[in-house]
Amino acid sequence: MTAYLDHAATTPVRAAVAAGYVEDLARLGNPSSMHAFGRAARRVLEESRESLAADLGAHPTEVIFTSGGTEADNLGLVGTWQAAVETDPARRAVAISAVEHHAVLDAAHHLGASRAAEATILGVDAEGVLDLAALESYLAQARERTAVVGVMWANNETGAVQPICEVVESCGEIPVHCDAVQAVGHVSVDFTESGVSTLALSGHKLGAPVGVGALLARRDATLRPVLHGGGQERGVRSGTLDAAGARALASAVSLAVAELVEERARLAALRDRLQASLQTLVPDARARSAGAQRLPGHLLLTIPGTDADALLFGLDVAKIAASSGSACTAGVTQPSHVLLAMGDDERTARSALRLTLGRTSTDADVDAVLADLPAVVERARAAYRVGAR
Ligand code: PLP
Repeated sequence: MTAYLDHAATTPVRAAVAAGYVEDLARLGNPSSMHAFGRAARRVLEESRESLAADLGAHPTEVIFTSGGTEADNLGLVGTWQAAVETDPARRAVAISAVEHHAVLDAAHHLGASRAAEATILGVDAEGVLDLAALESYLAQARERTAVVGVMWANNETGAVQPICEVVESCGEIPVHCDAVQAVGHVSVDFTESGVSTLALSGHKLGAPVGVGALLARRDATLRPVLHGGGQERGVRSGTLDAAGARALASAVSLAVAELVEERARLAALRDRLQASLQTLVPDARARSAGAQRLPGHLLLTIPGTDADALLFGLDVAKIAASSGSACTAGVTQPSHVLLAMGDDERTARSALRLTLGRTSTDADVDAVLADLPAVVERARAAYRVGAR
């Protein structure tokens, strides 16, 4: 049996969602067609839009279905930036937190490199939480020329929850794009109450299939499309509408939101037991962002004298699925930009192990890690000592 502790990478599709999805895949009809098939598909789509909006404190017209979190982030950040520049060419600046996912980070870099945007990275503290003073001092000199600010709801590596309300308050009229891919379904998210202009979510992080997500965009938000085509979804997200995916997303969100309070407490208890026990078994392991408000299922550990690759290999052999805090680009493990932003040197940033729990996690998963990780750490340390010689 494999213990799966990589729910932040992707989490199982819920059985009820999968059943509905398979049923919907058998239905014929483009939601934009006028005939009865099309109208039936449109009904599924619009009901899903209403359900999703109701669960996330949004108006149905504020839901734009996308292919996932990456597309929603690109549309939220780049689309908002483009609209702002077209209205006022002097508004070319974009500022994002240093711990954003690559979907936001690289989109901002792209704006800087190819569209002459002034891109600023805002620092975080040692817990990986946005430094609000850095935001204030940025705004003090760049408010008038800023098109959009991007700050995520919660970080995918550390689980650290970001001070979104304070960010929105400081930004005032400047639109805030929020990547809530790791947050939706795991902590309460109310779009209207948050005050953000756009918010990204992704199906496969909460029990829907890969390939469906959404951008919530306030009715007064001006966005330009990133993809050009048939003009579906308020004219900003062209492409044939995916009624089956929309329903799967809405059902998964609805189930996750209904279970949220109980599930959040259950996961936090499991995670806290895992953290406390590991700190006894591997006393120098350091739980990251533990002093911040964290997502309930996240545990990022820094384990001195190890390399994440060796840890992951050892765990895989022990049938435990985990991940590192670092991104893997074309097979080469890079130290995590998140951990570097939190003050780690490259060596330390390469010794991070991310264990993330989700809906299917049980005490047995925690026990499996507790049983096997100490020996895996010892072997990883031995390999590291040999490599360092
Ligand atoms: N943003 C965050 C915080 C994520 O964790 C991820 C996925 O890992 C994404 C964006 C990208 O989402 P998707 O995989 O749906 O494109």
